[in-house]
Amino acid sequence: MDDCIFCQIVAKKIPARIVYEDDDLIAFEDIKPQAPVHILIIPREHFPSLNEVPEERKSILGKILLIAREIAREKDIALSGYRIVLNTARDSGQEVFHLHFHLLGGRRMSWPPG
Ligand code: AMP
Ligand code: ZN
Repeated sequence: MDDCIFCQIVAKKIPARIVYEDDDLIAFEDIKPQAPVHILIIPREHFPSLNEVPEERKSILGKILLIAREIAREKDIALSGYRIVLNTARDSGQEVFHLHFHLLGGRRMSWPPG
């Protein structure tokens, strides 16, 4: 996936401010933060979006959520609150087609999202 920017971050071919990584996933600061805390959590494996994650790889989804919770604790937003966003396909506004969860916090959020 040479043309995928997040695969390039996984491969360390382009820089990112990594806050967590293990054998399955990597978390790094969003380059254009929309909140005081804005972290992206992605699997190392390339899936264009949630739509393409096969049943047999479903464990990565739960793992990402638990790591997001852990990062929220470390960033001290677990109790004040945070939002996890998973944009999928055109109407969501998804721009990068490598599955990623946004972890946003550190400010009051509005609802519904735009
Ligand atoms: P989405 O609209 O859900 O596809 O979000 C893509 C996110 O990736 C946006 O919040 C971008 O700011 C972020 N982004 C794009 N390129 C990079 C990069 N090189 N490093 C960190 N974040 C990035
Ligand atoms: Zn990719």
